[in-house]
Amino acid sequence: PWNRALTRTLAETAALVREFQDTLFRHKGGVQKLQDVTVDAVQSGGDVDQMLGAIRQGFKEMVAMIEEDAEKMVALTLTDALTAIANRRAFDEHIGRSIDAAVEQQRRLSLFMLDIDHFKRFNDEHGHRIGDQALVVVGAILKGFADEMKQLEDREIFPARYGGEEFAVTLLDVAKAEAEELADIIRRKIERYNFVIRDPDGQILAAGIKINVSIGVAELLEDCPAAARDGAHLVDAADKALYLAKASGRNQVRGYVKG
Ligand code: GH3
Ligand code: MG
Ligand code: MG
Repeated sequence: PWNRALTRTLAETAALVREFQDTLFRHKGGVQKLQDVTVDAVQSGGDVDQMLGAIRQGFKEMVAMIEEDAEKMVALTLTDALTAIANRRAFDEHIGRSIDAAVEQQRRLSLFMLDIDHFKRFNDEHGHRIGDQALVVVGAILKGFADEMKQLEDREIFPARYGGEEFAVTLLDVAKAEAEELADIIRRKIERYNFVIRDPDGQILAAGIKINVSIGVAELLEDCPAAARDGAHLVDAADKALYLAKASGRNQVRGYVKG
């Protein structure tokens, strides 16, 4: 008597499985498992509720897998493909949230804009592939610094690749004077780093190669007038400070000054 209901359920399941297979090629393994579960459930010849329960469970697992994938895809859209730190999109989202928190709760919010010095020359001398490695190293130094500050002092420091050879770092609950000190710690870390250039076989071609960075620092409540407390104005202020650092000879940190 339940044969017709089961046949109908199975036909629906099969149609869905086909749809899954067509649209989600990446989940072929999962779909195969779902088919197996379904066939096993039916062939067990057991209680109909048990059979449908097993089929339902199979679908649940499939959906969980797709949800997990969707989360991974969202994470990918927020990650810079070269340095594996946050990308510009993630930065824009993050600074918006940080500014809301800073304005609503009167918290300090500092921003670094960091730019590699004479990076065009570095690329010309060593090639773009080595230039890319330098960007990876700078990203890793920033990420390591942020992780350390989180672990040791529970500070929320968020580094991102802003674009090209420029990085942006937001520092919540960090006032400007301290932000400038932290920026200089980062500047010195990068200055001390010794690049080693290897050929594709891993042989060292050159060692002890250096890069320097300039950093501009701005602070939301201090440097942006009340009517202009947004990401664009804060980035502009830090950019102006960065320009000052470049104009003053590079490899240094400058804070934004009005005027
Ligand atoms: P300055 O000290 O004034 O910043 O000089 P600069 O040479 O660093 O500045 P400029 O803006 O003239 O050059 C930036 C260079 O960064 C040019 C570009 O080739 C390089 N660059 C940008 N993105 C990448 C990248 O993803 N990989 C590599 N290898 N180089 C990049
Ligand atoms: Mg630049
Ligand atoms: Mg540069």
